[in-house]
Amino acid sequence: MSAVSTDPSSPHDAHATPAPGEKNDFIRQIVRDDLASGKHTVIHTRFPPEPNGYLHIGHAKAICLNFGIASEFSGICNLRFDDTNPAKEDPEFVAAIQDDVRWLGYEWAQLRHASDYFDVYYLAAEKLIRDGLAYVDDLDAQAMREYRGTLTAPGRESPFRARTVEENLDLFKRMRAGEFPDGARTLRAKIDMGSGNMNLRDPALYRIKHVEHQNTGNAWPIYPMYDFAHALGDAIEGITHSLCTLEFEDHRPLYDWCVDKVDLTGHPELLQPLLDRGLPKEAAKPRQIEFSRLNINYTVMSKRKLTTLVGDKLVDGWDDPRMPTLQGLRRRGYTPAALRLLIDRVGISKQNSLLDFSVLEGCLRDDLDAAAPRRMAVVEPVKLVLANLPKDHDETLTFSNHPKDESFGKRQIPFSRELWIEREDFAEVPPKGFKRLILGGEVRLRGAGIVRCDEVVKNETGEIVELRGWLDPESRPGMQGAERKIKGTIHWVSAKHAVPTEFRLYDRLFTVPDPDDESEGKTYQDYLNPESRKSVRGYVEPAAADAAPEQSFQFERIGYFVADRRDHRSDAPVFNRSVTLRDTWAAKS
Ligand code: ATP
Ligand code: MG
Repeated sequence: MSAVSTDPSSPHDAHATPAPGEKNDFIRQIVRDDLASGKHTVIHTRFPPEPNGYLHIGHAKAICLNFGIASEFSGICNLRFDDTNPAKEDPEFVAAIQDDVRWLGYEWAQLRHASDYFDVYYLAAEKLIRDGLAYVDDLDAQAMREYRGTLTAPGRESPFRARTVEENLDLFKRMRAGEFPDGARTLRAKIDMGSGNMNLRDPALYRIKHVEHQNTGNAWPIYPMYDFAHALGDAIEGITHSLCTLEFEDHRPLYDWCVDKVDLTGHPELLQPLLDRGLPKEAAKPRQIEFSRLNINYTVMSKRKLTTLVGDKLVDGWDDPRMPTLQGLRRRGYTPAALRLLIDRVGISKQNSLLDFSVLEGCLRDDLDAAAPRRMAVVEPVKLVLANLPKDHDETLTFSNHPKDESFGKRQIPFSRELWIEREDFAEVPPKGFKRLILGGEVRLRGAGIVRCDEVVKNETGEIVELRGWLDPESRPGMQGAERKIKGTIHWVSAKHAVPTEFRLYDRLFTVPDPDDESEGKTYQDYLNPESRKSVRGYVEPAAADAAPEQSFQFERIGYFVADRRDHRSDAPVFNRSVTLRDTWAAKS
């Protein structure tokens, strides 16, 4: 719990220290101080996605930060769709985003849309015009760019900048009435064409767009620009800390300008349309704070590129398990806990950095090592016949579901004369240091006994079709002989009982660490990893086949797998490889 200052003489000096175990970073420290000083009594954040695509793992950082802070400090967090650009937005994305936020483990206080505030934005724009702070410009986009100047040269004032308030009000009304075609006019803030900050050179506040909107239909032929809508949306909702990524740092002066000049707290009449609909209770002056984006190598994170991958069918949709989308990661077997762990490990700062993909994989391993029950599965099977057992031998063996956690309980695994083992656990010509099965050698069958291989059966093309061996009868579970020292242990499933299974073996979608790098004259599409998806057929023990969709297991010695969310059935199992047991990429590179 953070201390609350009771000394009214120095309310803003209050500095709160985090309690042991509390997360800390520069934003949480600001929040803590704002509570301690009494600047805010309730912390209010929001996550403001544009519904023009699916959320990716970068968004998870913004979600965990905004919802996390609200929950840690007993505040509230809204989900607000920034739906100001109807041409690119879609209800499919709106539904998926809600699904993703909930899946990550968060619930919003209120679900809002920028479009809920269109009438307030409009009144706010009129107020700016009346205050001489906005004007209607007739310059077209090309001319406006020319007038804008460059980073080194100041801009020039538009010839329409000096219009009277009356003329501006009239033209803006007519823009709103739909009298003008797209692009014919814009409403611009009157700030400073000579500003060193390009964002302050009379930025556009409204543009004409005769496009139907998913929420407001054809009610509006004009739409507010992001900076204007976003700042006011925050103010309307009483957001105390408006957290966004570093690229908005240069927009902060404009953000503050919009909040201050419109001044919703001083002009509650602008909120009347919302009060009439029972919407917000309090407006506030929000503070924008920027943090660095999450970037991960071997992946692309721009929505535009992800949209192209899906649209051009370079992947199997938004939830392709190789995609960095939350839907893709989920289908791959990533857990909400693993993603939250990643965000905690990465931390919050203003330092831009590129995270190594192996850190993401490490978080999943750490979560699943503790959370996933163990099962046996054989991905690339070859038959092993225990020739000294009777043909009808049938037995059930008891296995722990988790080696480190008894609360996972135990299960029964059928064992019989014919087993499937991994093809690569047998070697005719063993490489140096090979500890598994060879002709004439012994290996331990996990939890079942010690087997010696006596015979290799091949087909006419020379391919091994069967191994025949001898199960040491003195080495069965619980017997003294089971303690005999044997170098290798392999897993197996009973051929008679195992369920034929499709395994989808996924790998990184790109072959290079920085697929966005175009310096070689290539694009990210040239770096797609052709080996990133492989489907093989093998077997799982019955207790794995029974899994519910999205259940994760560690298949012993192979990796972590998840029952496919859409295609898995107990009588036709489909498992996706989420991550291997060890970092095989580190070995490759
Ligand atoms: P993209 O650049 O991938 O198209 P975006 O920023 O346009 O994403 P929005 O829907 O506007 O997507 O993002 C919603 C919120 O998520 C914003 O506050 C944005 O700053 C944040 N966000 C987006 N990408 C990342 C990232 N890689 N790391 C952290 N936060 C992010
Ligand atoms: Mg954005």
